Amino acid sequence: MDRHQARRDRLRRAVKKAGADALLVTNFTNVTYLTGFTGEDSYLLLRGNGEVVLSDPRYTTQLGEECPELDLHIRPPGSSMVRAVGRVLRSAKIRRLGVEAESISVALRDRIAAERPKMEIVPTADQVEALRQIKDKGEIARIRRAIWYAEKAFGVLRATLRPEKTERQVAHELEHQMRLFGAKGSSFSSIVGVGSRAALPHANPTQRRVGESDFILVDWGANEGLYNSDLTRVLVTGRISPKLERVYRIVLRAQMRAIAVIRPGATTREVDRAARTVIAKAGYGRQFAHGLGHGLGLAVHEAPRLSAQSQTVLRPGMVVTVEPGVYLPGWGGVRIEDDVLVTPDGHQVLTSVPKRLEEAIVC
Ligand code: ZN
Ligand code: ZN
Repeated sequence: MDRHQARRDRLRRAVKKAGADALLVTNFTNVTYLTGFTGEDSYLLLRGNGEVVLSDPRYTTQLGEECPELDLHIRPPGSSMVRAVGRVLRSAKIRRLGVEAESISVALRDRIAAERPKMEIVPTADQVEALRQIKDKGEIARIRRAIWYAEKAFGVLRATLRPEKTERQVAHELEHQMRLFGAKGSSFSSIVGVGSRAALPHANPTQRRVGESDFILVDWGANEGLYNSDLTRVLVTGRISPKLERVYRIVLRAQMRAIAVIRPGATTREVDRAARTVIAKAGYGRQFAHGLGHGLGLAVHEAPRLSAQSQTVLRPGMVVTVEPGVYLPGWGGVRIEDDVLVTPDGHQVLTSVPKRLEEAIVC
């Protein structure tokens, strides 16, 4: 059976369990996951016995190519999407409509309610996101591809890094190289922080030059067309101060400890705790002020989250980032991030950029 069909059938069972006759999928990434359609501005209405994609004439040809098996409702030019939704709901006689509470706006919900005043609207959460957590073989292959682009580009960047290059040029170079190797583009705007700028977990690249400090933090990833990669490395461009050496080794140890815990049955909180304990014992607990990682797939950040609050049980097929960090305002920061697949008997680190401190030295 077609993999999109299998996903829709699984979702159908979950929607029924949630007590709705149908689910209106308004999150475009979820629509892509369920149909293979890669355009935007389109919804999927999933009923007990079928489904229909609601879209507009710009996408008719693309829909025919990407998901020819699906029923389409193409709204005529000049008629609103809400009208189209109302029409489809009426003809399918939907009485209890599930909506994606995390995605639908209050305004859209109210307009749909106005189209069908007697229909009940049932907010649901994470129905599709829960399915998206477990990647199939094809998805894992695409994530590997996204990693390949990112790593190839980083190799070129490393080889050509010069003290006079600015953070912005480094970010540009990465994106350029990823595209040259064949990626669709960056999976997010690269984070490039020289020295003290690395203390900002989400540093926006500036005109600061590589040579102005002893190290640089780079957080980047590629999009291969649909799926994403996400890595972080610190490169040493000057001398290794005792402080850099100390912080680097703590973060690396924390990351390796956390990765070692990853296997089916472990909870996301346990993995987070493994890293957090190492960093806290070294006295930097308060300087690691973000979660340990996140799921990776069609979105760069998706379920499951690896954090002190999240209790998801890891299962084979999940792909997560592991990215502990220590940030010291005024000095800088170290974060090391890899992408890890949960396998039936443990885990596999999908990324392969060297990360021992000795291997981080360039120019
Ligand atoms: Zn990252
Ligand atoms: Zn990340």
